Amino acid sequence: MKPEMKPAFRERMEMLLKDKEDFQKFEKIIHEVPKNFIRCNTIKISPEDLIQKLREKWTVSQPYPENPEIMLIESELKPGELGSSIEHILGYYYVQEISSMLSGVALKPSPGELVLDLCAAPGSKSTQLVSYMENEGTLIANDVKMDRVIILASNLERCGASNTIITRNDGVQFCERMEKTNMKFDKILLDVPCSGEGTLRSSAKTFLMWNPKMIKSLSRKQKKLMASALKILKVGGELVYSTCTHAPEENEAVLDFALRNFPVKMEKVTIPLKTRPGLTKWKDESYNEQVKLAHRIYPQDNDSEGFFVSKLIKTGEIK
Ligand code: SAM
Repeated sequence: MKPEMKPAFRERMEMLLKDKEDFQKFEKIIHEVPKNFIRCNTIKISPEDLIQKLREKWTVSQPYPENPEIMLIESELKPGELGSSIEHILGYYYVQEISSMLSGVALKPSPGELVLDLCAAPGSKSTQLVSYMENEGTLIANDVKMDRVIILASNLERCGASNTIITRNDGVQFCERMEKTNMKFDKILLDVPCSGEGTLRSSAKTFLMWNPKMIKSLSRKQKKLMASALKILKVGGELVYSTCTHAPEENEAVLDFALRNFPVKMEKVTIPLKTRPGLTKWKDESYNEQVKLAHRIYPQDNDSEGFFVSKLIKTGEIK
């Protein structure tokens, strides 16, 4: 039996999407298997060389000319085929859904920078950041859960990351420790734990696990992580905040919290998908107008998973 949205979730999605036809498209697509995307690991191989190898067995395209590292496998695949190929084992590519790549595209760190990925496991985005950094500079990839840190380490190793320090810490405590050492980062990725409403296509258990209490408690946690991360960002530094959920409490509300309490401003990022602006109103709440610069990604707009991505710039010291 196919899983369905719980009534309260359905009601919220109807409120978010407003248009009946749009909601019907959403309801249809969340039951469809997502497309197979991979990201070329440019540390080990160029997109040109990888595509040549992969075309010996699959139909492969590069749908985004600005991002040749992003590839779509159009062939029918056997279960597990992408993860068991020799090119995958060698770390030539990372299997990653297109929307999940957007945080890395938005942050795009340069070689030589000091970068933090505070909630990093299993490493989809850490491996992407290392690739943009060309293995130069330093990435700290942190996560709180040991079992997930082990997978993070193995993914970073497979992808040939040699500029990365892996830590296991609660994100808030990690930032407190960094604050004491006065270490400040050029760029921070805050890809926080969330209710996962955008992942219904690949993870049917989200239909069952969804509950409104979880959204409230996650929103509190996300605000704490945001406050901590901003303290250890350099003035002028960039923080990308992303989630794989549609819930405004976990998205715009967290940005609004940052804009109200810290010297930060939002910056528009260019990403290669159709997106919708962040919301300035949800239920009884109003959010700072700048949150419109955030990107909401709904699955029906690009035949992808759902996602939320935004960028903040720190404009002054935090006392
Ligand atoms: N960025 C990851 C990637 O692209 O592979 C996915 C991150 S996932 C959305 C959120 C992660 O946050 C989980 O791995 C979870 O273990 C971690 N997490 C949860 N609470 C945390 C905390 N207090 N501090 C640091 N990490 C935490």
